[in-house]
Amino acid sequence: MSRLIQKAISEHNLTRSELIELLYDDSCAEELFSAADEVRRQYVGDEIHLRALIEFSNICRNNCCYCGLRRDNKNIERYRIDESAIFKLAEHAAKNMGLKTIVLQSGEDMFFTTEILCNIIRQIKTLDVALTLSVGEKSLEEYQAYRQAGANRFLLRIETTDKDLYLRHDPGMSWEQRVQCLRDLRTAGLEVGSGCLVGLPEQKVESYADDILFFKKIDADMIGIGPFIPHPDTPLKNASGGTLNMALKVMALTRLLLPDINIPATTAMESLAPNGQRKALQSGANVIMPNVTLTTYRKHYELYPGKSTTGYTPDDSLRKVKELITSIGRKIGQGYGASKHFKR
Ligand code: SAH
Ligand code: SF4
Repeated sequence: MSRLIQKAISEHNLTRSELIELLYDDSCAEELFSAADEVRRQYVGDEIHLRALIEFSNICRNNCCYCGLRRDNKNIERYRIDESAIFKLAEHAAKNMGLKTIVLQSGEDMFFTTEILCNIIRQIKTLDVALTLSVGEKSLEEYQAYRQAGANRFLLRIETTDKDLYLRHDPGMSWEQRVQCLRDLRTAGLEVGSGCLVGLPEQKVESYADDILFFKKIDADMIGIGPFIPHPDTPLKNASGGTLNMALKVMALTRLLLPDINIPATTAMESLAPNGQRKALQSGANVIMPNVTLTTYRKHYELYPGKSTTGYTPDDSLRKVKELITSIGRKIGQGYGASKHFKR
């Protein structure tokens, strides 16, 4: 086995130049994937935790150049699911589908004030579930209010640690502010989830090494890695996009360096290549997020085109995920599936 992979398995540490060497060397990819699979098994076991994903609004004040929900995209029908309908989706996921974590995701939709969101959180927490939010950049006080209302976790990807690239692709946003939000999430007592895109135009292999070291530095509890998929109604429509192979390599190295965190097999991986999620679950991932948003809304939540779950009903999504887990000889997570890394 490659000396560097061996070192990563035993020390869970690699230098920037070692990471870069592995990211460039495609001949070691399969070895890297099996090493990450083995470290995953040792640290977080064979259970795959399921999360019910509810995409409750596609309205966004931001203009991220890669994202189909960006403010300037006039070609999408915007929707907002109301409080009682969000609760009903969560209730179906918890009671009928047996899911133990609800993830509420949206664009940065200012309609959902702290008060409204906290009401929704409190209602959903009566269902005996863990609750994850993914609603973008907020103040420390807001994150604290969500925690107080019962939220447990938060997902906010750094997207890229290459500051110049971030500023180019996220006009009007501040990289430092995003990092501050990640610190504030920790202060608020939430499990901190972050992650990055792989394959943005001009994103360098070297910067993936920085991304992985950044995840370690912020002591992340969860990391989601997604290949960038160009959307036709965005400024990056002609970009070539990321590859599954590079996204899997970044993910596998993340598992080797942060062995006890939660790592999802992302929908973007499946959208890019059939069996992308299967491959991810066998290369370090231990979480999967079946989409429980109703089909009518789902087609409008187009972060990128060809989202693999677009045409499915919530029950279809769950059935497919369960079949996948069984087919690779793994187990469905029984508890809330909190990150083993998270310390209260
Ligand atoms: N508005 C929130 C949550 C929704 S976006 C936020 O930005 O944090 C969730 C994630 O979708 C983003 O973090 C981004 O990494 C991903 N995403 C957006 N556009 C994408 C694209 N074209 N290809 C792949 N992933 C994309
Ligand atoms: Fe909005 Fe998130 Fe898309 Fe950026 S990535 S435009 S913040 S939904």
